[in-house]
Amino acid sequence: MPELPEVETIAAGLRRTLVGKEIDRVRLSLPKLVRGPASGLRRLEGRAVAAVRRRGKHLILECGEYGLIVHLRMTGCFFWAAPGERPGKHTHMVFRFRGPGRELHFEDVRKFGFVRVVRCAEAEGAPELAGLGPEPLEIGREEFRERLKTRRGRVKSVLLDQSFLAGIGNIYADEMLHAAGIHPLAPARRLSSVRAGRLWEEMRGVLGRAVAAGGSSIRDYRDADGEMGSFQTEHRVYGRAGRPCLRCGRQVRRTVVGGRSTHFCPLCQREKKAGPLPDRKTGREKSSSTRSRY
Ligand SMILES: [Zn+2]
Repeated sequence: MPELPEVETIAAGLRRTLVGKEIDRVRLSLPKLVRGPASGLRRLEGRAVAAVRRRGKHLILECGEYGLIVHLRMTGCFFWAAPGERPGKHTHMVFRFRGPGRELHFEDVRKFGFVRVVRCAEAEGAPELAGLGPEPLEIGREEFRERLKTRRGRVKSVLLDQSFLAGIGNIYADEMLHAAGIHPLAPARRLSSVRAGRLWEEMRGVLGRAVAAGGSSIRDYRDADGEMGSFQTEHRVYGRAGRPCLRCGRQVRRTVVGGRSTHFCPLCQREKKAGPLPDRKTGREKSSSTRSRY
């Protein structure tokens, strides 16, 4: 499922190519794609796309008074198609624009994605957005630490909880925990202030680098122009079970936390109930500079 960096990349691509285009017609062929009345899509017709933004894992296309909230879920994606190109069997929504030019197709093989038309002024109160926590790249260190202290549960599960922070999914939760040297099963509220601060820093570092790389391309992820991200080449633990940890050489392990596949290094991310991290220099870490680069 696309997470913050992938959705941000898709939003940036649509900002470049979609903003300013006036929607002439929206053709829907899968009614269940739309939450709320499907006739809401008519409200977008005759309006120009003024902005494209992201909130958590959602895209929001703003078209004057009305906007479209989009969640891609597992396999939803936008792509540009030649005018009149016959929609594929997984294309469920087609945007035609005033004047000549390409059409924007929304395709979703597994059909878990959805859209909802909202008044832009009320978008944040929409059911999909109302319960979301702060943005991981906007929350301050202190607020992050305070929120962690209020959460029961394992830190991995807390990071995935969209009401804690919006936009983090399985890949980046694993990567930021590894970067911070925190075991995924550590109880969130028992992390020391130092370790919680380190997690905040690594969260910003990992997500920032992933956004810069255009996200991670695994499975079918592409942005609307068919471009792939490259951050998958920088994954340190995600999808690397059984291979050596890039920091210490120990085999990366896979386990399941809260029903989600979880990857971690048993040496870099030792399970501890509380207290400071062990002295890293006594581990099989290559050098301190290796760590600081991650
Ligand atoms: Zn390691």
